[in-house]
Amino acid sequence: MFINAHTHHCSNQANVLDLINYFPTDTIEPTAYFSVGLHPWSIDTVTLQTDLERLENLLQHPPCLALGEIGLDKVSKIDFSLQKEVFIQQLHLNKKYNKPVIIHCVRAFQEILSIRKSEQITQPFLFHGYSKNHQLLKQIHDAGCYVSFGKNLCDNQNIQAIFANLKNEVFFLENDNSTTSIKDIYQCASQLQEIPLEELKQQITQSFTTVFGPI
Ligand SMILES: [Zn+2]
Repeated sequence: MFINAHTHHCSNQANVLDLINYFPTDTIEPTAYFSVGLHPWSIDTVTLQTDLERLENLLQHPPCLALGEIGLDKVSKIDFSLQKEVFIQQLHLNKKYNKPVIIHCVRAFQEILSIRKSEQITQPFLFHGYSKNHQLLKQIHDAGCYVSFGKNLCDNQNIQAIFANLKNEVFFLENDNSTTSIKDIYQCASQLQEIPLEELKQQITQSFTTVFGPI
């Protein structure tokens, strides 16, 4: 089984588990695994209350494995304090449903980790599309959180070096919005870690079950 921990497209392949990401306003097929959350780009104060209600409803569907992607984005045009407020609201909502959280983070790692601490959030965070340095990765792991890597494992030398040095750490793989297939990303990951593809698949399936629950 190839697990795609964060994607916006369904691959329709029998040996791929896609954790498809939705926004609360999307039409959702609640039979396939999905994650749902209010992305920091799509916050609208006019529809916020309704969006949060829809979100809470969707979090209760058993195939919903995670809250997200939610987070903070310093490049977004949406007011940063509003982003923070909505991020915190969703984290509090999720305390009742206890789902892991897929995090969208642009230049706001410290803010997100500090909110996690101050709001006493215990659900694991998965920083998706990780592309930063080793020190930050250590800080994320020390906070009890995880990352997932995307297509830059196949073409970005800095990330390739960081990934090749990961030892005994839990990680996930994803293709997000890209057209690179999750199988190709697994292939790159297996070469970088110098482990057989089958072993990598088993390892990630085990980690996925631990963090997201039985599949
Ligand atoms: Zn995404």
